[in-house]
Amino acid sequence: MSVETQKETLGFQTEVKQLLHLMIHSLYSNKEIFLRELISNASDAVDKLRFEALSKPELLEGGSELKIRVSFDKDAKTVTLEDNGIGMSREDAITHLGTIAKSGTADFMKNLSGDQKKDSHLIGQFGVGFYSAFIVADKVEVFSRRAGLDASEGVHWSSKGEGEFEIATIDKADRGTRIVLHLKSGEDEFADGYRLRNIIKKYSDHIALPIELPKEQAAAEGEDKPAQEWEVVNRASALWTRPRTEVKDEEYQEFYKHIAHDYENPLSWSHNKVEGKLEYSSLLYVPARAPFDLYQREAPKGLKLYVQRVFVMDQAESFLPLYLRFIKGVVDSNDLSLNVSREILQKDPIIDSMKSALTKRVLDMLEKLAKNEPEQYKGFWKNFGQVMKEGPAEDFANKEKIAGLLRFASTQGEEGEQVVSLAEYLARAKEGQDKIYYLTGETYAQVKNSPHLEVFRKKGIEVLLLTDRIDEWLMSYLNDFDGKSFVDVARGDLDLGNLDSEEEKKEAEEVAKAKEGLVERIKTALGDAVSEVRVSHRLTDSPAILAIGEQDLGLQMRQILEASGQKVPDSKPIFEFNPAHPLIEKLDGEQSEERFGDLSHILFDQAALAAGDSLKDPAAYVRRLNKLLVELSV
Ligand code: ADP
Repeated sequence: MSVETQKETLGFQTEVKQLLHLMIHSLYSNKEIFLRELISNASDAVDKLRFEALSKPELLEGGSELKIRVSFDKDAKTVTLEDNGIGMSREDAITHLGTIAKSGTADFMKNLSGDQKKDSHLIGQFGVGFYSAFIVADKVEVFSRRAGLDASEGVHWSSKGEGEFEIATIDKADRGTRIVLHLKSGEDEFADGYRLRNIIKKYSDHIALPIELPKEQAAAEGEDKPAQEWEVVNRASALWTRPRTEVKDEEYQEFYKHIAHDYENPLSWSHNKVEGKLEYSSLLYVPARAPFDLYQREAPKGLKLYVQRVFVMDQAESFLPLYLRFIKGVVDSNDLSLNVSREILQKDPIIDSMKSALTKRVLDMLEKLAKNEPEQYKGFWKNFGQVMKEGPAEDFANKEKIAGLLRFASTQGEEGEQVVSLAEYLARAKEGQDKIYYLTGETYAQVKNSPHLEVFRKKGIEVLLLTDRIDEWLMSYLNDFDGKSFVDVARGDLDLGNLDSEEEKKEAEEVAKAKEGLVERIKTALGDAVSEVRVSHRLTDSPAILAIGEQDLGLQMRQILEASGQKVPDSKPIFEFNPAHPLIEKLDGEQSEERFGDLSHILFDQAALAAGDSLKDPAAYVRRLNKLLVELSV
């Protein structure tokens, strides 16, 4: 072994310790994946080298045959992986193999429950990576040298996975990384050529570079050990360049795990080759589960970009809109230049047309999933529905298509579940119904019991129930679907169009006329608190309701804006009352103006409460109500 200098012992970042602990305890049922993870890293390292060498050929140091070698020693109980990729400097090793760079990691770790089954799902979302070596090894050694550095600037990293690692500077003649796993007792099954070959075939066949194992060879009589020969055990061609019909589902799945650093299979994928004016291949995947950092601004997003089979960059964001940031995949272009940069990507018109084609592909893929695998789509919606709801605002051109993919809770859907599509809603709409009705609010329980729904219940008309924070904002971008416009049932003067018969309309007009006097009295009593008072057609059980003016901000938007410290334009609700309700009849007959005023205010406040709003003057409400209660009991 070479001389070690500048030896020191460093502690792992807390999150690494937690991850190590979790990994060792929750992934024991699928230990062999450590090899996939390490090969995946080696392949990434080779990709990086290949790319950097385009502008700095000297990095290849004469060794341009890029590959990964896996070997083993039955006696020493070790498995060794070696790549001639980009390698690591001492600093690289300290940061990359001692900390986790992903943003939001600490928060993620806090979410762990200690329940191994649940946590093993979480760790899937997190991605396991290098540290998975410790599933099978009780000591891991890494020998590495960054391409381009002097042979004397190699690094030796070693750890027992228990909280700290040792690091030393060594001589390393060839660039790249060698990882030696000292297998735990009981894990020596991995120090076996047959076993390793099978694992590589199973998980890493798609890796586009040769993975070699030592060739089994018997020493001829009288000869000493023969020189080691190697043989390639994987297919070693870029998966996306192969014809679709020749790629097995398992291969697509394993490739996904490699590029997405995911632990679970994807929900769906779309593999395409485009020829003509633009030439490129794309392979796009829908993950099964949202990553833990989906809502982190700096979280990785975008596709892996290759130019003529050469890896150029990770997380190329310009190929898909933001609302599809959860899509993983590869795009390989024949038209871009190998030294394309992020800045160029943002401006290149080629990218724009690729972006719109790729966006279409993803939306088509989701449409197919929704149609053919509705149960899976439900899962998709649970994970990514919130992000998809950003779509209509961001992607005007595909608004209708995105709207078709949206799922809502409704008065006729499964309790509180977002499962109803707009097409389904329209298919079962009432005869003569030419609107899509919806109601927004804070919680499902609140909207479900809202007085705004009374007339709809009576007439058996379905109403979509929207309770996500983003919903009101979303609806401000959706005007219609399939030619039918959206109507917020809490807004304006509800017009049920053809759903009201001529008789009902006539009767409503007559009632309104008959109650003009009452309208005026309430107006005077409520004064500034309301913009208008009118007779309601939407109530059957409740005495009164507050409607939002046609142009006013809804409650949800108002609350969001207020919470973010913005000034919200003042708007007053419309007070609608139900003339058939006994309380309103009582009000109408009330002689004392004082009591009339109190009762009007109580009805107003109650309507605000039922809408999920808070009262401007709760003490006054309590005072008035108690006054009435006292009068009632004498
Ligand atoms: P991830 O691959 O998700 O970034 P890992 O924990 O697997 O996370 O690896 C951490 C980092 O260590 C990698 O991003 C890379 O920078 C470095 N690394 C791991 N293996 C190698 C390797 N064989 N060659 C060069 N760098 C490597």
